[in-house]
Amino acid sequence: MHITDNFDAGNIEVITVDDNKNIQLAIRPDVGEVFFQWFNFRLSGEVGEEYVLNIVNAGEASYVEGWEGYQAVASYDRQHWFRLPTSYKDGTLTIVAALECETIQIAYFAPYSYERHQDLLAAVQTHPLVTLEHLGDTLDKRDLTLVKIGDGDANKRNIWITARQHPGETMAEWLVEGLLYSLLDSDNATGRQLLDKANFYIVPNMNPDGSVRGHLRTNAAGTNLNREWTNPSLDKSPEVFHVINKMEETGVDLFYDVHGDEALPYAFLAGSQGTPSYNERLAHLRDRFSEVLTLASADFQTEVGYDVDAPGKANMTLATNWVAERFDCLANTLEMPFKDNDNLPDEEKGWSPERSMQLGEASLIAMLAVVDDLR
Ligand code: ZN
Repeated sequence: MHITDNFDAGNIEVITVDDNKNIQLAIRPDVGEVFFQWFNFRLSGEVGEEYVLNIVNAGEASYVEGWEGYQAVASYDRQHWFRLPTSYKDGTLTIVAALECETIQIAYFAPYSYERHQDLLAAVQTHPLVTLEHLGDTLDKRDLTLVKIGDGDANKRNIWITARQHPGETMAEWLVEGLLYSLLDSDNATGRQLLDKANFYIVPNMNPDGSVRGHLRTNAAGTNLNREWTNPSLDKSPEVFHVINKMEETGVDLFYDVHGDEALPYAFLAGSQGTPSYNERLAHLRDRFSEVLTLASADFQTEVGYDVDAPGKANMTLATNWVAERFDCLANTLEMPFKDNDNLPDEEKGWSPERSMQLGEASLIAMLAVVDDLR
């Protein structure tokens, strides 16, 4: 039996593998040792044999509530991801894998690889309305890439979408993939009408270094990018620095920052209600957006979510709050579950890349519902 994490976004440390019924593993923390929860590794063994994997440091992970009711994700072909029997007790996450093929990949959520990221950029750039722009280098010297869609007409609204500030939240880039392909599909009437009314600026992966390194939450310097928006720097958070520079150039009329939540088994929005300049116009836009998204996707709901910030009490270092305040625009964080949507559970797959992509397509309908009223 053999375990490796020596590949893109891999993360596991092997403590002991002597006994197939008690393999001991640990998750390697992000640089800076503050955050960890993302794991991603490959196990090779005997077909028919059952392996019991114990992640022994799960109790010190960033979101221990994230393990309750959680089932690990696995794949044999790295295309179809399903859930494995998983339980959490006394600080240890136990995953049971009965092998149907020699090699199984096991992860916290379906990975969105750096290769797939590049495939996505290459695929969309062939569309006549798409331009790729290199916003700058990351600390590990990877490209931070902006997908610009539209003719840049100044009379159109400017819609900004960012995903994977937190690199372990891979569902965010799955959502962007679904949204992008729908937006660029000439048979998709919602996409066509939106492109008549808006220019899109999309960063499918805000944190490529953290993604490749197998981090949960931070970049190559151990910085949580979604706490950097009031004071980004080239040393600590060049990703945010470059995106803000570009936003200042284009303006922002709608902002959608896509994330995943470890604990809550629902898809929901977190808005900018606590920002100093929040007003009735923004509240109305938010209500409309959220009402239409509820209709567009039965996987989206408004009953469960984060506590709403009291007026003036927003944490302005978060992207959504900073952008809302700076541009006086509709700004939302979308959260999707790592677990499942408890209102519509799927026992085999849980929350999945496919559902994330469909929620991306549905998000376009909500954007179309508000685009004429953004200014
Ligand atoms: Zn996040």
